[in-house]
Amino acid sequence: MAAAKIPAVKGMRDVLPTDTYLKKDDPWIRTGHLHLIEQAARDIFPLYGYREARTPILERTALFTRGIGEVTDIVAKEMYTFEDRDGTSVSMRPEGTASLVRAYVEHAVSQQEPDSKWWYMGPMFRHERQQRGRYRQFTQIGLEALGSQGPRIDAEQIELLNRWLKALAIPFAMHVNSLGDANCRPQYRALLQDYLRAHAAELCEECNRRIETNPIRVLDCKNPKCQQVAAGAPPMKYCEPCQQHFDKLRNSLDRLQVQYLIDPKLVRGLDYYTRTTYEAIATEGLGAQSTVAGGGRYDGLARELGGGDTPGIGFAAGVERLALLVAQAGREAAVKPVLFIAPLGENEELKADELAQALRSAGLSAEVSFRKSSAGNQMKRADTLGARFALVLGEQELQSDRARLKELKTGAQHEVVLSELVAGLRKLLLSLPENQ
Ligand code: ATP
Ligand code: MG
Repeated sequence: MAAAKIPAVKGMRDVLPTDTYLKKDDPWIRTGHLHLIEQAARDIFPLYGYREARTPILERTALFTRGIGEVTDIVAKEMYTFEDRDGTSVSMRPEGTASLVRAYVEHAVSQQEPDSKWWYMGPMFRHERQQRGRYRQFTQIGLEALGSQGPRIDAEQIELLNRWLKALAIPFAMHVNSLGDANCRPQYRALLQDYLRAHAAELCEECNRRIETNPIRVLDCKNPKCQQVAAGAPPMKYCEPCQQHFDKLRNSLDRLQVQYLIDPKLVRGLDYYTRTTYEAIATEGLGAQSTVAGGGRYDGLARELGGGDTPGIGFAAGVERLALLVAQAGREAAVKPVLFIAPLGENEELKADELAQALRSAGLSAEVSFRKSSAGNQMKRADTLGARFALVLGEQELQSDRARLKELKTGAQHEVVLSELVAGLRKLLLSLPENQ
């Protein structure tokens, strides 16, 4: 009897290299989509001086209760928390900022360099209801700039996000707001609380709780009735320094020719989030889960985590959501062999392996057939792999040291000398109009 299958944990998905064995109606994310997104990040982020940092997946739970806030959904309801063998409460990271700032404080980085720009990529864990674009294990690519108060660095970072998403041909709009600071926000919070109390009957249960714990969060509740109340809420009033910061940010964005819109409903609930917040929202293709990246300034966080007064700003982007958009656009960074070699007999097999080795040493991707099959079937396989050329290797080719490379797209045949295959293939690639 066959053993029972062990399925993956709910909300945690496999990413497979190809979709030929997946349901066609499901726009499935494949490795190639992720490579496009990651490669663009690796290419673009260093242009702005961001360097990669890697922090552990497990952290002490206290880092997130303090670094994200106990009243947030993430900490209150979504964390994977358990006791380590020594009784310490640990959690699988639900996001990256708290960990990066912890590392920054722990390694006293501020004493070594005045400004640090770090980026990161990796899996995050939140026990949420699984939906399209919402998983329990998902990937974020994010970055943090620590040490500057902005607003020029805020604008630089928003321009970076803008450049990255454009490079991926993602349809999106950049939303920008300011939350004020410890100086002006408490007054606004009180004003908002009064307004919300007067409208309590129209708000959802959750928002009724938020009136006392986290009233600013009511502004971004997804419930339509709450949104109606939010639309009538009094606007934020900034103190002079916050107003100036916001004006200068907008000025910088205009100078850098970044398109954006001011969105007063873009908020974060915790006190150490200050001033600039921004989000990139997909304008098509994602439905309800349309926010692809969210960012903001957190000037109080380092202090909250036991460090000094280091201001910071960062964003995190959801890679799976980006990948769904890239998949929908039909883009893929697939590795396709330049040459597919099909040996017909046993003598030819070893020769085929040798030729493939020589091609790979020269940086040319090659695939050999490991199956015995007719020449016709081998050609079909070459086609499925997306190979540029195919070479059928028989006794005659081995003896004469000459063979024909078939260009799969056009059917054209090109004669080559087998003992000079690398040079011959290179010459061919250069002489043919389409180089890929
Ligand atoms: P949402 O409003 O969609 O729940 P969020 O405010 O919880 O997002 P952040 O904590 O700001 O999201 O995370 C930044 C980005 O990470 C989001 O914009 C989204 O693209 C992605 N993200 C967040 N949670 C998930 C999830 N459960 N599955 C997939 N991607 C996610
Ligand atoms: Mg969420």
